[in-house]
Amino acid sequence: MGNARIGLVGLGVMGRNLALNIAENGFDVAVHNRSTEKIAEFVSNAGDLANRLVPSETPQDLVNAISSPRAIIIMVQAGGPVDATIEILAPLLDKGDMIIDAGNANFHDTRRREAALREQGLSFIGMGVSGGEEGARFGPSVMVGGKGESYAVIRDIVEAISAKYQGDPCAAHLGADGAGHFVKTVHNGIEYADMQMIAEVYGILRDMQGRTPADIGALFEHWNTGPLQSYLVEISARVLGASDPETGRPMVDVIVDRAGQKGTGRWTVIEALTLGQSASTIEAAVAARSWSAAKDTRIAGEAILAGSAPVAGAPALADDDLQAALLAAKIIAYAQGFTLLQAASEEYDWSLDMGRIAEIWREGCIIRSAMLNDMAAAARAGLPHGQLIFAPGFKDTLIKSTPALRRVVAAAVLNGQPVPAFSAALAYYDTMQRGRGTTDIIQAQRDFFGAHGFERVDGGSDHHGPWAMG
Ligand code: NAP
Repeated sequence: MGNARIGLVGLGVMGRNLALNIAENGFDVAVHNRSTEKIAEFVSNAGDLANRLVPSETPQDLVNAISSPRAIIIMVQAGGPVDATIEILAPLLDKGDMIIDAGNANFHDTRRREAALREQGLSFIGMGVSGGEEGARFGPSVMVGGKGESYAVIRDIVEAISAKYQGDPCAAHLGADGAGHFVKTVHNGIEYADMQMIAEVYGILRDMQGRTPADIGALFEHWNTGPLQSYLVEISARVLGASDPETGRPMVDVIVDRAGQKGTGRWTVIEALTLGQSASTIEAAVAARSWSAAKDTRIAGEAILAGSAPVAGAPALADDDLQAALLAAKIIAYAQGFTLLQAASEEYDWSLDMGRIAEIWREGCIIRSAMLNDMAAAARAGLPHGQLIFAPGFKDTLIKSTPALRRVVAAAVLNGQPVPAFSAALAYYDTMQRGRGTTDIIQAQRDFFGAHGFERVDGGSDHHGPWAMG
């Protein structure tokens, strides 16, 4: 048995950087990769950190290199590759050893794998890691699911490698089995909404106001000094300020408007629907990326539908309107995310701590922002009716900024400018601010054609209306 504190399989972009981060924090780490030629290459390029890396040619070498109880991080592509790696490692391990999946797994897979490995006497940790390549190398936000006592074995390593917010590690054990991967999935869903909302503002400034990328970038840079301060606003400003080295044109102008997605946004929406929840802002963002893929159809549509003829009467938009609209819509997207987390926590018995989740998102991850510190404080104080949009501070901001969101949505709609995430945010807000909605008629319709019954406002359930057939 060797002396390495931990093992890592999968020397791709994330695995390489995570291994270097672990080594830099003073832990010996045994490393292995399916394509073995990458192992020596990685170690030889690791500089001073190479002496903390234990290159392991075979899975057995890796297992032999780690001290007991063994902990092995898998950082390979989600899905089949994770199962394939577990199948190779599990028979080589002893009872009490632990496998940690640090990729973007679907939490249902994590629950299945945890149960299967528990049967074999092995621990399984599902660990969501956010922050991309740079986060993995210098400090990600880490969302852990699995048994608390298993996490205790690796907690010192995870906290050491994670990002810190004023000294507080952005890493936490959040609940059993798939809790960490579920929270990471919702994090990514919120990330989709956040990015889409920024893109909607960019679209209004570019298409309705004819502003240049540099000008929009400067505005975003300015916003990044106020309540919208966030990694995504910051990088958007930098992106908009960049020029194409080949043509000298603004970089965004030479990028095809066809967005990619790997699935975590879609999973968030699927899980929201399964749990009877709304993540409509996230759904709008996923849909916008899907629609963007139909580039040829959209080009044809521009001619066939003759473009978007503006309808008169659109309100003029000031930059302050757009800033306030983005602020309001963003709060609503996060509120939907937290509501979904709460629903999943109840369904899967995870006892998720919303305050802690917001705290570990304050640094290291892609959605890090100034607002998350206020969200953490609001969640710690207790969300009225479980709703972030009712929390003091956020409620006040929304009441103040939703008029701007209305103006922005109205102006965009009248100009034929698509704002699916802003519209979804506003519709959710307007639904939540009305005690009496319109599903009374839906209940009547359901009773009419299906005798489903309804509750009466003056009491009692399973009533039927005077529309009996025949
Ligand atoms: P990557 O650079 O494409 O590396 C993939 C790794 O998976 C390689 O080491 C590859 O080994 C291994 N692999 C693929 N199929 C395998 C199989 N069947 N059996 C064993 N190993 C296999 O991927 P990445 O970007 O590091 O992502 C790894 C995980 O982190 C994914 O779940 C991803 O979603 C997640 N993640 C990525 C980011 C990001 O910003 N990139 C951020 C957060 C989370 P070979 O060298 O042999 O092909």
